[in-house]
Amino acid sequence: MSEIQKMSCLIIGSGPAGYTAAIYAARADMKPVMYQGMQPGGQLTTTNEVENFPGYPDGVTGPEMMMQLEAQAKRFETDVRFGFITKVDFSGDVHKAWADDGTEIHADTIIISTGATAKYLGLESEQHYLKIGGGVSACAVCDGFFYRGQETVIVGAGDSACEEAHYLSKLCTKVTMLVRKDEFRASKIMAERVKNTSNIEILFNTDTVEVLGDGQGVSGTRVRNNVTGKEHDIPCTGFFVAIGHKPNTDIFQEYINLDETGYIRYEQPGTSKTNVPGVFVAGDAADKTYRQAVTAAGTGCMAALDAERYLSAKGH
Ligand code: NDP
Repeated sequence: MSEIQKMSCLIIGSGPAGYTAAIYAARADMKPVMYQGMQPGGQLTTTNEVENFPGYPDGVTGPEMMMQLEAQAKRFETDVRFGFITKVDFSGDVHKAWADDGTEIHADTIIISTGATAKYLGLESEQHYLKIGGGVSACAVCDGFFYRGQETVIVGAGDSACEEAHYLSKLCTKVTMLVRKDEFRASKIMAERVKNTSNIEILFNTDTVEVLGDGQGVSGTRVRNNVTGKEHDIPCTGFFVAIGHKPNTDIFQEYINLDETGYIRYEQPGTSKTNVPGVFVAGDAADKTYRQAVTAAGTGCMAALDAERYLSAKGH
């Protein structure tokens, strides 16, 4: 039998956006309840070393940073729950949500911090080196630094791939870009920038066959020209995938305004407000541009402050 729980603030998702929102909401005595979601800790738990989050002069591993954020949220008595939200109903005055264990939640405010999921090719070798932190990454800004002075390969042909290839070109001796069609999807200006960068080589009509290595680290990429069928190996120590992200917003689409690629639209730029009063968004679920832990944390803070002001205005 399902149980109804009332709360003033429900936080959905446990990346840097969710935990920062929790810390602020808890310190404002909103007694937040967080459902961690399918991947507790979010995308950072698949990152090896985080060196660009201010306050960690020696760097920190992604999983360790998320444990610290969780501990900080719990210190102020955030109710952190292992589980995920399967359904919401924002049609009435009360914001309703249902957890995977059947709990029905009635929340005065909701902070959506469900993030986005990077897409990967799905090759076994790619997933192996991704899991062990052996040279596969979906974030050049996060991990490019580890490959400075080395050769890297990047897959993709959109704006992200171009931006990331250009970023890598400043650090790496050579960047090989694998484009599966005979053209870019990226905007002309981004594609031109890549074409005009001397240490970026673009291979069109090229698919990835396998990520090569000794089991511990990446040493190359086997590629196939999908017109000629010819295969060859490219030496590299870093294999970057930039084929898009999927924002984790499916359960909200009936109620929350999304853009054409599924990202949540801010109702009022410069705030965390969605089109539903009392429902706020933080982090990558609404951000296809920056996608950084520190920007997610910043918007998490904004969402908690907006939620608190919303409650105050309602006389809570
Ligand atoms: P996109 O969906 O625009 O592009 C994804 C790219 O990956 C496409 O070129 C696609 O190829 C390729 N791809 C997809 N699957 C595979 C696969 N299995 N193997 C090989 N290649 C594959 O994603 P982005 O992340 O680049 O951009 C998302 C949105 O964010 C866009 O609207 C973009 O304009 C925006 N953005 C804007 C930026 C800016 O303006 N500074 C920076 C970054 C993003 P194909 O073309 O063959 O389908």
